[in-house]
Amino acid sequence: MTEMRPQDILTPTPAGLWCKAGGFHIDPVRPVARAVITHGHSDHARSGHGAVLATQQTLDIMRLRYGEGFAGSTQAIGYGEEVRLGDVKVKFHPAGHVLGSAQIAVSSNGSRIVASGDYKDAPDPTCAAFEVVPCDVFITEATFGLPVGKAQRVIALIREARYEAPIYLHGAMEKITHYYEKSGITFGRLRPVRGMKKADLAGTITIAPPSATSDIWTRRFPDPVTAFASGWMRVRARARQRGVELPLVISDHADWDGLTATILATGAGEIWVTHGQEDALVHWCRSRGLAARPLDLVGYGDEEESEAPSEGEEA
Ligand SMILES: [Zn+2]
Ligand SMILES: [Zn+2]
Repeated sequence: MTEMRPQDILTPTPAGLWCKAGGFHIDPVRPVARAVITHGHSDHARSGHGAVLATQQTLDIMRLRYGEGFAGSTQAIGYGEEVRLGDVKVKFHPAGHVLGSAQIAVSSNGSRIVASGDYKDAPDPTCAAFEVVPCDVFITEATFGLPVGKAQRVIALIREARYEAPIYLHGAMEKITHYYEKSGITFGRLRPVRGMKKADLAGTITIAPPSATSDIWTRRFPDPVTAFASGWMRVRARARQRGVELPLVISDHADWDGLTATILATGAGEIWVTHGQEDALVHWCRSRGLAARPLDLVGYGDEEESEAPSEGEEA
């Protein structure tokens, strides 16, 4: 049997990472026959594929986001479970990014590539902890702190800080937050902000998507203080620009130290970099004697944490 080179197992294509031997794409950005999906964020999990293989939570989040019929057929797979697709084996491992998020290990003829999707090594009470998966090629993002999906983690952190009063939710946060609760994550008392009297919202906390904070929607609050949770809040100018009064540096992505520590821990001799600051990470890998290349995949990094657009929500 001839040894397969890693680039023969997974190949970057306009639709996403393509595994010819297995007949599937990972996180395809265009409709494909068979998709293997890392997690439920909208830039990775799109509707319209023939068959979808993902964790049960990712499938459920896709259903909440797109409705029934988001794919021709679905198959759920658990962490640590391995399935054969064509001539390769596919195994899912926790990515620590959001509920149900997974790294996907693809093995063929003794060679293993791990597509990590989005991941973080920092602790998060709302999802399974990131697991280091030894591999020959590690595919990593390089976003270190995109301003994305962390509403549920923010609620959990507020509770960890012993704030026990009800927390109010913008309409666009309700479905997925309640899905987390059904999955066993406890958030304490949550209430819809919809229908609340202005005076009753004084001194309370409401969680809303970024798009809601700058529009007419905020007039329902008496004297609101705007906080913004994002890795970007490390950059003061960004916070000022958005008129943020309370910047919170929280990200659902590994930061620079997390990315580089993870790369070394996998033992991979070769690193492929997907989206974000590819150049910086490729340069760092090469300086460590690791083979590295950017994959030039497009369509990632613009993720929405809410399941519906927030504009047009009733006032
Ligand atoms: Zn994501
Ligand atoms: Zn992403």
